[in-house]
Amino acid sequence: MKVFSEIKDLKQHISELKRSNKKVSLVPTMGNLHSGHISLVDKARQESDVVIVSIFVNPIQFGPNEDFNKYPRTLEEDLEKIKKAGVDIVFTPSIEAMYNDISNSGSKILGSYKNKLLCGKFRPGHFDGVLTVVMKLFNICEPDKAFFGMKDYQQYVLIKEMCDSLNLNIDVVACPLIRDKDGLALSSRNAYMSSEQRVMALSLSKALNSIKSAFEKGEKKVKHLKGLGLNIMIESNVAVQYIEIVDPVSLLCAEEAKKGDLVAVAAYSGKTRLIDNNIL
Ligand code: AMP
Repeated sequence: MKVFSEIKDLKQHISELKRSNKKVSLVPTMGNLHSGHISLVDKARQESDVVIVSIFVNPIQFGPNEDFNKYPRTLEEDLEKIKKAGVDIVFTPSIEAMYNDISNSGSKILGSYKNKLLCGKFRPGHFDGVLTVVMKLFNICEPDKAFFGMKDYQQYVLIKEMCDSLNLNIDVVACPLIRDKDGLALSSRNAYMSSEQRVMALSLSKALNSIKSAFEKGEKKVKHLKGLGLNIMIESNVAVQYIEIVDPVSLLCAEEAKKGDLVAVAAYSGKTRLIDNNIL
């Protein structure tokens, strides 16, 4: 496994791989890797010759009062995990390598109206930061395919839309959301929670499950379905930021839910912000 932190060295290596017609996959991450990340790597390995994992805690996607400073950085353990998973290349750039001047990160990708919905409403500028870093990683790594988890469903939709609207020749692959045995969606941020807060956090997946089963039993009114999920989360003492049922492509809501719609939630368990979703 080769580890690169300099952009020019990685670019040179990739152009050699491209000359020998290797199909390259990219799995962008912020590190502190868990089985959710590894599931993306496994899929990428099956679908390409060379797998690149990037590990970069991207400062421009964090708001001023968010957890950029305390975000878990566990590079040694991450390298061990991805070596075991058969990754060929790891890209671990410094902030200075990615942004010459962090106070002015230069041109940005601003995305569409979808940037401002769901999580975008509560994290202004977050998705501009995500799209910008992903575009930079695409330009540096020149992947044929890039793998993203449905855990961050809105992020996947925005990246897919960016590739389609800007004619990037990259196949954006959506990978299933991986959960713990008890239903909690795996996340690097789960480590912030106490055991009590972790129990409270289970109410997110419980809310999603009960919405889905009510929908399957015939309840179509979005207002009623949302109310059902909201009650479950409120009873567990998590602070709900939003619960929405939206079209999976436009991310817009209607009065009646339909099969294939996205149910998305965000809530705080203690000080930890959690997101989760499922598809009706
Ligand atoms: P992150 O390191 O949180 O930026 O995530 C990197 C990639 O891993 C993103 O595409 C995420 O959607 C994906 N990912 C994170 N957690 C999970 C999970 N529980 N299941 C599937 N994919 C995940």
